[in-house]
Amino acid sequence: MKRPNGIVIAIDGPAGSGKSTVAKLVAKRLGYLYVDTGAMYRAVALKALRLGIEIHDEVVMSHLAQMTDIVLQPQNDGSVRVFLDGEDVTEVIRTPEISEASSIVSSHQGVREALKAKQKLLAEQGGVVMEGRDVQTVIVPDAEVKIFLTASLEERAKRRWLELRYRGVEIAYEQVLQELKERDERDSNRLIAPLRKAPDAIEIDTTDMTIDEVVNKIFKLAKQKQTC
Ligand code: C5P
Repeated sequence: MKRPNGIVIAIDGPAGSGKSTVAKLVAKRLGYLYVDTGAMYRAVALKALRLGIEIHDEVVMSHLAQMTDIVLQPQNDGSVRVFLDGEDVTEVIRTPEISEASSIVSSHQGVREALKAKQKLLAEQGGVVMEGRDVQTVIVPDAEVKIFLTASLEERAKRRWLELRYRGVEIAYEQVLQELKERDERDSNRLIAPLRKAPDAIEIDTTDMTIDEVVNKIFKLAKQKQTC
């Protein structure tokens, strides 16, 4: 069934695989909406930490996620600002502490259900590039383009470390590597919606690719589907 605003491009992969950078650029080139589902989990995690809520408590966390208003507001330059209950939290959700907490929070079924509804709604009309961990498997399994992005653990840690340093966060490379490894394990081994490549997704290993190369590849796949 055709969607009114265009196709859906679903991109999943582990942290540091290049999802956000690539998804943002593909969306810009196609004139599509960019949806960062990880930002939603990060926003819920931030709210819980601020309120002093025990993030391992599934019942309380699920309730909190249902009562949380998250808005992803597209900007003219192609970026997106994240609003948590009306407050702009775009920058504050990008700390290593929130990365860790969001990975714990996202393992709760109730939290996933609350955010799933919002994400499905965003994809419904099409014209969307959505990235996360379960977009090609759970959120939009019938997406026209399904991509699974990977890269070696060392390369992903290097990218994440450089990004954090660029933003002024003082952190050792070894710590970033260790935290990424733990997050990978948690995201891939959880019971609900674990990070998996859908059988019909295209896997792209970005370890030795430039951003342009990856964007061009996905853009071409999208163009082929748009003309179908
Ligand atoms: O993509 P990002 O690293 O910002 O996501 C933060 C965390 O949110 C991930 O480590 C993962 O645990 C969770 N997440 C998820 N499902 C998604 C997107 C993110 O479980 N669709």
